[in-house]
Amino acid sequence: VSSVELTQFFLDRIKSHDGELNSFITVTEEQALAQAKAADARIAQGDAPALCGLPIAHKDIFCTQGVRTSCGSKMLDNFISPYDATIVANYQQQGVVCLGKTNMDEFAMGSSNETSYYGPVKNPWATNCVPGGSSGGSAAAVAARLAPAATATDTGGSIRQPAALCGITGLKPTYGRASRYGMIAFASSLDQAGLMARSAEDVALLLGTMSGYDAKDSTSVNEPVDDYTRLLNQPLAGLRIGIPDEYFGEGLNPETEKCVREAIAQFEKLGATTKSIKLPHTGLSVPAYYVIAPAECSANLSRFDGVRYGYRCENPQDLDDLYCRSRSEAFGDEVKRRILVGAYALSAGYYDAYFAKAQKARRLIQQDFVAAFNDVDLIIGPTSPTPAFEFGSKGADPVAMYLEDIYTIATNLAGLPGMSVPCGLVDGKPVGLQIIGNYFAEAKMLGAAHQFQ
Ligand code: GLN
Repeated sequence: VSSVELTQFFLDRIKSHDGELNSFITVTEEQALAQAKAADARIAQGDAPALCGLPIAHKDIFCTQGVRTSCGSKMLDNFISPYDATIVANYQQQGVVCLGKTNMDEFAMGSSNETSYYGPVKNPWATNCVPGGSSGGSAAAVAARLAPAATATDTGGSIRQPAALCGITGLKPTYGRASRYGMIAFASSLDQAGLMARSAEDVALLLGTMSGYDAKDSTSVNEPVDDYTRLLNQPLAGLRIGIPDEYFGEGLNPETEKCVREAIAQFEKLGATTKSIKLPHTGLSVPAYYVIAPAECSANLSRFDGVRYGYRCENPQDLDDLYCRSRSEAFGDEVKRRILVGAYALSAGYYDAYFAKAQKARRLIQQDFVAAFNDVDLIIGPTSPTPAFEFGSKGADPVAMYLEDIYTIATNLAGLPGMSVPCGLVDGKPVGLQIIGNYFAEAKMLGAAHQFQ
């Protein structure tokens, strides 16, 4: 099949199904078909890259030149990016076709996609339920086969939790593995680009292109990029898997736990050895995250001032009025809540009590993992405490929503890679198994996930 045919196939699926799901904010039909045509020409000439002609979708947090990049916010509803994010450019160079930009929680703040200015995304498995967030659009699009794969980002669980809730595979690489250049910043020390696809094998095919050093991102890491596809079938015999006690406590749905325990038994059958481990500071991760992430967000989002780009209020009286009304009118409630919490935690007099303390907790959490990885190769547990929940059921209580990421947040605080793979169904809704690896152990994680699948 040609790239034009393949691209048209997915565009048609988007047309027939996305009216209901709302997984795309922008569909770039014309550009996609033009890119597909160019890819077909390149393939006809011979020696085209392996991914040439493959259509994928990008989360609307990645800047795409000439295409609206909204980040799920009214603030950027009118923002046409003048440049491409590095990872977008990387895929384009390989001839990968962009189908469009996927829906997301506003500025990636959320776990249910309910904070998007463009309305919630529906979970294809149960349309009365959320797809997870913040990368809910990417997850729903892949799960409903509106795109074979999609890019996404993960600051506290935004790739893994929606992947779990939508029954697909999602990988957040090691912090710094892929460039953040052109990825709209939420909490820069935690933000990481990654992928969602049907299987670990598909993620492996795409991960190499996203990864690598970028001089435009001072935190991108100059480590060689593995050949993820070649390493998929390394035998699992002798692989040591740690099961953290703290990930099986109160709050974990018993049916979800059952699926995860069965998955662990399956790994044992594949030749891995498992043992229980301790990550004693796990309880600090949600509170530390909800100081550090809002603090960084309050600084990062100060650039949206109504002057340089994005939304500007009508008839400003003076500069203060311009700042104040532009921001009040264009940011949603959750974004405002984070900015307020973050500015408070960073303010003189409170810095030591909150921000400095959270940073100390962060170090303890990271050291737990360093100690654990002295004895094990991978850590396995649930991705999320429950399967997909109904719209509106957690909206009124921000803390209930924040607990959605109780198993995923520590990984971001430590900068480690994490992924979610489907491991069963509860009441017809998917359950995700989380696999956490040591720094730059993406190949090992993908191999384990592939053989499990
Ligand atoms: N749900 C978490 C939050 O609201 C994580 C979001 C993310 O990873 N971008 O901050």
